[in-house]
Amino acid sequence: MRIERISLKTLTVSILIVLGLVSILLLFVTTLFFREAALKSQSQSLSRVMDVAAHEVVKQLHTQVFNLGSSFQGRTEFRAAFERFRQNGDATSLQRVLDDPIVNGFVGTITVDLVKLRLYDPDLKLIAQSQAGLQGMVPQLAPMLLNQAAGRNGAERLKAVGGVWISLNEPLYSVLVPVGGLKLMGYLEVVANPTFNLASVEAMTRMPLTVLDASGKVLHRSENWPSDREVKILDVEYLLRTGDGRVAYRLMGMADVTQLNADMARSGVIGVLAFISLIGASVLIGLWFFNRFIFKPISNMQSEMERSAQGDLSATVGQQTLKEFHALAAAFNTMVRKVDSNIQELQRLSSVDGLTGLNNRRHFDLSLKAEWLRALRESQELSLLMLDIDYFKQYNDTYGHLGGDDCLRAVSTLMQEVVQRPGDVVSRYGGEEFAILLPNTSSQGAQFLAFKMAAELARQNLPHFSSPLGGRLSLSIGCATCRPSPDCREESLVAAADKALYQAKAMGRNRVIVAEEMEDVAINKGAE
Ligand code: GH3
Ligand code: MG
Ligand code: MG
Repeated sequence: MRIERISLKTLTVSILIVLGLVSILLLFVTTLFFREAALKSQSQSLSRVMDVAAHEVVKQLHTQVFNLGSSFQGRTEFRAAFERFRQNGDATSLQRVLDDPIVNGFVGTITVDLVKLRLYDPDLKLIAQSQAGLQGMVPQLAPMLLNQAAGRNGAERLKAVGGVWISLNEPLYSVLVPVGGLKLMGYLEVVANPTFNLASVEAMTRMPLTVLDASGKVLHRSENWPSDREVKILDVEYLLRTGDGRVAYRLMGMADVTQLNADMARSGVIGVLAFISLIGASVLIGLWFFNRFIFKPISNMQSEMERSAQGDLSATVGQQTLKEFHALAAAFNTMVRKVDSNIQELQRLSSVDGLTGLNNRRHFDLSLKAEWLRALRESQELSLLMLDIDYFKQYNDTYGHLGGDDCLRAVSTLMQEVVQRPGDVVSRYGGEEFAILLPNTSSQGAQFLAFKMAAELARQNLPHFSSPLGGRLSLSIGCATCRPSPDCREESLVAAADKALYQAKAMGRNRVIVAEEMEDVAINKGAE
């Protein structure tokens, strides 16, 4: 589409609509981005919750396993069996004592899944271990615990150490409890399966839980673990590591984010609707302002300028508008005034009368001078007819000024039709007065033309209701003829014709009067 076919209004409305749509699109993108960010943040905080819960569980497990070990090593059977071993190196009864809590249960084994009891000498060499419980364990202390316990001196050796470690891909929790009180006789390792306790993370976090080992084997899964993945679920994951940094457990939780999604969707819709309303209101207000201060002034200026372009130079462009339009209107008005005065000046300078198309007064004066000199040079006669419409004031009053103008044009046409010679100069002398300059024309010739004109007007029978002369349009004509001489001037010819016209008026109008004499001008003897 070509640019000149696009209106300012269309362009502005299009720009506003495009801006509105882009803003709404941006809002949608931002809403999606915020939704993603909110879900990510939610997932992170739930992981943190799971982290805290898992640590709490491990802490509790440590206490429970330690308590179990402490009370077990205080048992009389254990002490007696240990004493026997120290005396004769027989570990049989010691092994039976170590099996007992695993087989028959013991204080604390309800809260802990006890899988092994092992006894070490003060140098952490294995003395005996329970045969019951978990099978296939490496017959020595886990390197992670060994690192913590070995190399300690003095009272440090009397402290219990513990932690998560991995035996044959299975995560376990061990606490090494010193045996013998202040006189260290060895260490009792209480080994428990932490999976049993980790299940309580579910209750603490109130999330469905799956516990996996490092290889991905499922060790525990909540009963309410959702099978329908269509439910809006947010996956939460937490890695529980051994003391030396290996992954022991992978805890997976799930949060139902249906409500969160619904809340976010609702606030998104509210936000979008509010934004769309805001954009809509802004566009409407913007359009109102554009319309009030730009489109309307431009449209008004356009119609006012068109009036001027069609010739009504009196039309002006309104200036009660914004600064730029005000300046534009002022410039246009100045230009129109200038054009108007130039046209008037041109008309003044030109030789044509604007209303009738006859020669104007200026042209008449120049022609009179030229013809006077030529007649003088060639010793020829020069005649002048002065014509005036009778009761023209009343004509205007009756038919209005436009009717009067039409009448002036009709009389002009009539005069031009009657006067035939190319040298004759028919002019509008002023108002409803005309002058016909007739070079090389005798008085008889001039009178003939005058009477012909009056007769032709009578024949046309043009109405003039308010004229006392029979309700018909009529002319009074003054005739003057002279043969110019060097000692008189052309004005006297005009004065004589004018005087004759005055006489015609005085004698009742609608007649031709020939000038009898002329001051300063030689009397034309043939003018009788
Ligand atoms: P009279 O018979 O004595 O000439 O009466 P009149 O009413 O014609 O008298 P006068 O010459 O004093 O009046 C001329 C009038 O012609 C006055 C003016 O209103 C009118 N007139 C002059 N020029 C124009 C013109 O261009 N158009 C129109 N419509 N009227 C004009
Ligand atoms: Mg008149
Ligand atoms: Mg007059």
